[in-house]
Amino acid sequence: MSVLEKMNSAEIIATENKYGAHNYHPLPVVLSRGEGVYVWDVDEKKYYDFLSAYSAVNQGHCHPKIVNAMIEQAQTLTLTSRAFYNDKLGNYEKFLTKFFGFDKVLPMNTGAEAVETALKICRKWAYEVKGIEENDAQIIVCDGNFHGRTTTIISFSNDENARKNFGPYTAGFIKIPYDDIDALEKVLTTSKNIAGFLVEPIQGEAGVYTPADDYMMKAKNLCNQHNVLFIADEIQTGIARTGSLLAVCGNCDCQNHCERQATYATPDVLILGKAISGGVYPVSAVLANDAIMNVIKPGQHGSTFGGNPIAAAVAVAALEVVDEENLAQNARYLGKIFRTKLSEYIKTSTIATLVRGRGLLNAVVINDTEESDTAWNICMALRDNGLLAKPTHGNIIRFAPPLVMNEEQLLDCVSIIIKTLKEFER
Ligand SMILES: *Cc1c(COP(=O)(O)O)cnc(C)c1O
Repeated sequence: MSVLEKMNSAEIIATENKYGAHNYHPLPVVLSRGEGVYVWDVDEKKYYDFLSAYSAVNQGHCHPKIVNAMIEQAQTLTLTSRAFYNDKLGNYEKFLTKFFGFDKVLPMNTGAEAVETALKICRKWAYEVKGIEENDAQIIVCDGNFHGRTTTIISFSNDENARKNFGPYTAGFIKIPYDDIDALEKVLTTSKNIAGFLVEPIQGEAGVYTPADDYMMKAKNLCNQHNVLFIADEIQTGIARTGSLLAVCGNCDCQNHCERQATYATPDVLILGKAISGGVYPVSAVLANDAIMNVIKPGQHGSTFGGNPIAAAVAVAALEVVDEENLAQNARYLGKIFRTKLSEYIKTSTIATLVRGRGLLNAVVINDTEESDTAWNICMALRDNGLLAKPTHGNIIRFAPPLVMNEEQLLDCVSIIIKTLKEFER
């Protein structure tokens, strides 16, 4: 029986390989069910999910409240397009803008679309409000960034694999080192045509690079001084992942953070995706105040599915769960335990050199080269030991479980991770 089931799993992988484009390199595990912090494969083997679909499933797999909101709305009205009004969008927009403390939202579907939207808003604001000459606007981005996969976005990536042979590239971007406030100040003072600064509060894909605690606030203040839009891509870091509702909130401890967010690095433009729907439906959003958002007029931007009633219902439920279940506090509390336990182990480890991160967005650096397959092999062993994670780079493994995890489960996971790493000690 188990042989037959194993064949099924191999067959499923072979089918994907044959009929699907090879644009991903998945870990060989075929999942068929999820609940909370767990997923099960086709052989009913149970795993802790330590990727959470790149932080889309912060609220846990198949959260009943979110799933029910989707089912109910799917049976009532799914899509009208924005050619007409629907009775869910306005309420969602009101809820979302109050939740994050902005005047307006522009609803989209995927993260990359939301980043594109933010770039368009930024350019238009630069010409129509700031007064930059048409086609001269520049947007500052960071080395090691990840903002998605569209032609414009990969134009300013420095991941050669993501970029090569996809040119000609979109112009109008200036790259500076990440977590380097002097580099930002230098560009801002030497060029007059800067429209915005697009930045991840923690670089997730690059390997969970966590900048200095005051980097966001200093960057925001510099942008203010130079009349440049501070654009935060919180698609991966936002929605409680790093122990606060937004990573730019730093160590802000309140749930309804909006009043206090002002003392931190309130973005001019906030980009959200992933966990805004709890991983149930593609939903993304760009938030800004009127002085910025009002540059967009009818016909200048849109999407057939953006702002559809299912997305609206799902996102409201998903954000309510974040509040009701205190996910930010939980992420902060468990994250400290995770890093403390791993640091203790790493002191005497020959295979792991560093643990870093904030809240439940963490990474362990493996003692081998970027080109090695050690991190991949460790992830295969973790899989065998009942925990799913993936390398972000050759020698870095990201650990990002659903935020609905409890302390007992986290401690169980820590012992699985340490036990597995010990198998690789030399
Ligand atoms: C995932 C991600 C994106 C892209 O989102 P998609 O939904 O995959 O298009 C953009 N920025 C960051 C920081 C991300 O983590």
